Amino acid sequence: MRYEGTVYRPPSEADSLLIQATIGCPHNQCTFCGMYRKTKFRIRSVAEIKEDLREARNYFGNDVQSVFFPDGNTILMKTDQLAAILDYANQLFPQLKRMTVYGSAQYFKLKKQNEFHRLRNAGLTRIHSGMESGDDETLRNINKGCTSIEIIEEGCKVKETGIELSEYILIGIGGRERTKQHALESARVLNALTPDFVRLRTYVPWLGTPLYEDYQQGRFHLLSPHEAIKETHLLVANLTGSFQLYSDHVSNFAWVNGNIPKDKPDILETLEQLTKVPEDNFRQVDSRFL
Ligand code: SF4
Repeated sequence: MRYEGTVYRPPSEADSLLIQATIGCPHNQCTFCGMYRKTKFRIRSVAEIKEDLREARNYFGNDVQSVFFPDGNTILMKTDQLAAILDYANQLFPQLKRMTVYGSAQYFKLKKQNEFHRLRNAGLTRIHSGMESGDDETLRNINKGCTSIEIIEEGCKVKETGIELSEYILIGIGGRERTKQHALESARVLNALTPDFVRLRTYVPWLGTPLYEDYQQGRFHLLSPHEAIKETHLLVANLTGSFQLYSDHVSNFAWVNGNIPKDKPDILETLEQLTKVPEDNFRQVDSRFL
């Protein structure tokens, strides 16, 4: 298997076979993101990806159970090409239970629903999607490349085909100025979309990104640990949909996981208790460890 650059994957894919299908991110303009900033985006050839899959089968055997195809927005691949590698992975690994990619709403727009059906039938089980916020002003500020309406409409289009959606919310990305709107609008979008999973991450300034500069120059105001926990509380308090909530990331100040709505009272109680813990007890992770 050949890997180029730093390979990022969601924590939930820690046990998955990682095969790069794309290199970098075709958008690469989110102001907070430093993952692929210096990488020129390209899609690897199907032949190359198949070679890597074969090599993985020879190395690990054929009982691989899950495969994640990095890098950013692999969903952008032509449907025929993505379906070809999914089909091939299924042939090589008969025990496969899950195949997943990264994808955001602006790239869902490029596919018709029957293409998502095709990908589902070829074995695409889940898309990890960084919506970050449901607040349109925040989405504009961070240059996400899509609106809240697109996140809802395009996400629903995917979900209706049976592909699971795992949506990522970035706590604190609205800064101190938009913390309330970011929480309330993100809850609104999640309630309308009802993704299968909602995963929380907390914004950490990443050296070399435009938002890091804004933070350094005092134009962006980072939330304190208590403010981040209160924002999370406001978000969770306003969730009325039904999904699994995870804060499975080292950046978070609050470790709250559970089923919404069943576990919502316990999660809110935990968050309230955390606001009583002195702020000095929370440590913000360095962006190098994200
Ligand atoms: S957050 Fe996602 S879409 Fe935005 S630049 Fe980073 S990888 Fe690309």
